[in-house]
Amino acid sequence: MAHSRRAMYLPMHDDSRPPHTTYSAGAGTPLKLGPLAGHHRADVAIVGGGIAGCSAALHAAEAGARVVLVEANEIGWGASSRNAGHLPPATKHDPDDIIAHYGAAAGQRLLDAAEQGPVVLGELIQRHGIDCDYAVPGIIMAAHTEKALRAHEKRVAYWQARGRPVELLDRRRAADMIGSDYYLGAAIDRRGGRINPLAYVRGLARAAIKAGAALHEGTRATGLARDGGKWKLTTPQGEIEAERVFLCTNAYTDNLWPGLRATIVPVRAYQFASRPLRDNVAKSILPGGQPMTDSRRLLSGIRMHHGDGRLQFGGQGPAFGPQGEPDWRATHARLQRIFPQLRTLETDYWWSGFMAFNADNSWHIHELAPGLLAMLGCNGRGVVLATLWGRELARHAAGVAAREFVLPPSAPQRLWLHPVARPLVSGLIRYYALRDAIEDRRLERTRPVSA
Ligand SMILES: Cc1cc2nc3c(=O)[nH]c(=O)nc-3n(C[C@H](O)[C@H](O)[C@H](O)COP(=O)(O)OP(=O)(O)OC[C@H]3O[C@@H](n4cnc5c(N)ncnc54)[C@H](O)[C@@H]3O)c2cc1C
Repeated sequence: MAHSRRAMYLPMHDDSRPPHTTYSAGAGTPLKLGPLAGHHRADVAIVGGGIAGCSAALHAAEAGARVVLVEANEIGWGASSRNAGHLPPATKHDPDDIIAHYGAAAGQRLLDAAEQGPVVLGELIQRHGIDCDYAVPGIIMAAHTEKALRAHEKRVAYWQARGRPVELLDRRRAADMIGSDYYLGAAIDRRGGRINPLAYVRGLARAAIKAGAALHEGTRATGLARDGGKWKLTTPQGEIEAERVFLCTNAYTDNLWPGLRATIVPVRAYQFASRPLRDNVAKSILPGGQPMTDSRRLLSGIRMHHGDGRLQFGGQGPAFGPQGEPDWRATHARLQRIFPQLRTLETDYWWSGFMAFNADNSWHIHELAPGLLAMLGCNGRGVVLATLWGRELARHAAGVAAREFVLPPSAPQRLWLHPVARPLVSGLIRYYALRDAIEDRRLERTRPVSA
């Protein structure tokens, strides 16, 4: 099997434009908003123009608040335009763990919110006429070990007992739906789906502007202080005096608020887009249009863009620092193991973005001081959840106490290993890659002979 790479589009480094991705062509035009200049008064100032910030701006403006949002780069420049565009209808953690962690009532509210998430997005998209390739054909989670298959069985049983459209697929049915007999089986959750996240975040931003919010690009917030009972947010050419400030900077959090950055470890994750596949090969992969992930430890999302025949997949590359050359061999070899019909695999473009890992691999809203809230986390679940938690922040602007949020606020937890996080996480990633490789080899031996 051959694998090669084309340099058709040079990968963008973390400069001020979002990278060229599978989403660019279908996402319309950038908003081209001017930087903030001069003195502004607002009920709410928002830092960060990703899904969380734009959702907060939209919902707060709709509720009548005067909103000013500043984004250091372009709307959607961060993880919001760089992700895999999967819409899982559930939290990363098992429902039982959520209940155990948050308590019965709060845990159930969270599970309900996550479950309803893709539907809420659908309503929002329809209400604001956002053209973003939103579809809910289900989402597939494939199992690469017996242990993972049992975990899927348990989750499926949990949801089926509650009458939800979640099903276990045996190896043959999984093979039909995925287009590969690689996996031992899978679960399909028909409440999940996919989206063009760049088109979505731009649509949210445009809807927020229509509702009366002022959004500014190319504006980094550089100072934040309490001043005469209000918050004063400083930018290179202006300032905002606001009752409340929401920090929606997630993995791209800088030193604006002391200590916040030390609650997360930003880890770079990579996405790739193949050259359009031959028609018969494209049709054989994920023919139902569901995106899929598998149970491996390292990011594994795959989706087929049936419109133009490109396969989009996650893969490996340097996890820290500036964007580096990805690990082509490992990334391509894995894809070709899963889909042997990809006899040659050419990558037209690739990109990367940061995810914010924290102590419990979960999402958090922190009330840092009265009127100052931050939202971080949401790895692999942020398209839906950042929308929902942005909406929660907007409720705060309308006077709802943070303790009433669906996601209860938590105290920021500085990672005590933060100073050595890079070598530690790098070591962990190497260990995970090794474990994945060993399990992959085992799985390969169970593959039907016809493959
Ligand atoms: C490769 C990858 C794949 C993923 N796949 C999925 C998936 O399939 N499904 C899913 O649901 N989630 C996925 N995620 C996660 C999801 O993309 C994120 O959780 C979500 O986009 C976070 O949105 P956000 O608005 O919180 O942050 P971001 O979109 O990262 O926005 C933060 C913004 O803050 C700005 N900023 C930072 N500091 C300042 C400052 N001082 N002043 C002004 N602006 C500032 C940055 O420029 C940035 O634009 C993925 C993430 C990555 C990286």
